[in-house]
Amino acid sequence: MAGNVDHHNRKITYLRVSVTDRCNLRCMYCMPVKDLKLLNHGDILSYEEILKVLQAAAEIGIEKVRLTGGEPLVRRHFMHLVKSVCQVSGFKDVSITTNGVHLKEKAQELFDAGVHRINVSLDTLNPVKYAKIAGRDCFRDAWEGLQEAEAVGFSPIKVNVVAIRGMNDDELLEFARLSVRKPYHIRFIEYMPIGHDSRWKAEKYLSSDEIKSELETLGPLQKVLRSSLDGPAERYRFESARGEIGFISGLSHHFCPACNRLRLTADGKLRPCLFTDDELDIKTPLRNGCSREDLKRLFQEAIVRKPRQHPAKIRGKGAGRRPMSAIGG
Ligand code: SAM
Ligand code: SF4
Repeated sequence: MAGNVDHHNRKITYLRVSVTDRCNLRCMYCMPVKDLKLLNHGDILSYEEILKVLQAAAEIGIEKVRLTGGEPLVRRHFMHLVKSVCQVSGFKDVSITTNGVHLKEKAQELFDAGVHRINVSLDTLNPVKYAKIAGRDCFRDAWEGLQEAEAVGFSPIKVNVVAIRGMNDDELLEFARLSVRKPYHIRFIEYMPIGHDSRWKAEKYLSSDEIKSELETLGPLQKVLRSSLDGPAERYRFESARGEIGFISGLSHHFCPACNRLRLTADGKLRPCLFTDDELDIKTPLRNGCSREDLKRLFQEAIVRKPRQHPAKIRGKGAGRRPMSAIGG
């Protein structure tokens, strides 16, 4: 096996790093309803530890890093980490996923540090509904954060919309129109059953095909060619739109054959697959003083352990122990 090629001939070039399991929102599809167990500060990787891991990752061929959470912008001194990560040689792309609530204050600093691609999660354009879905009355902050990202010059700006029947399925066309007048990539994400306490129900699930059919009532969607930095989204655009439409179909269309990613949890576990609990502990060796070469070997082990595809049984019940907020999406 070459350094970053797995047993199924996939080249692993992308690492998603969860910098905290804490969040200022409580999205109903992400956080558990009860018994939310948060990590102690001493259990999460320090910025110095994350950097050591990332330097090893760059040396085995990771080119793209996404900082996520929980909510990355709530971790103290997050900008220190961002600046250092942007300076690790070997990374072609450093991006973040945020709920946008603190983005208005941070957008310029993030951009100046070298983060130019951003994903903002926003499931509704209705402030009342936002409070219901996110558990906090923060629509205005998130919306202003998104506007600020645009003003500062982030490109692309991806807007993550988890599509849930009975919740935001009446806003699909409104989001589609937003992609016409704004340079946003609106990405509809299929609601996934993640975590043992998931509130996922079959009747709330809305497939990408259903969403696409509804959007096509506005006009034809033209396919957009994928670039090497693309994730699993299928990309489209309406004629003369400033932005795009994307579909992330974790359940209806397995994207496993194209999976190029690993995940690092806030407490220092490398996860080969979003949908399975298999994890490699990287924190203990790190705290026992392991070398860069040891870290690279751990990455290679995680790559070898990537399953060919995720277990079909996730349809219907929560996959894995950890909620999405503890994995990073
Ligand atoms: N707090 C940040 C945010 O919300 O953008 C980053 C972390 S969040 C876990 C990352 C992404 O995972 C968000 O876009 C969120 O909508 C998505 N997500 C969380 N739970 C999900 C679920 N059950 N199904 C599909 N997407 C989910
Ligand atoms: Fe927080 Fe993001 Fe999960 Fe919402 S989706 S609860 S913003 S981590």
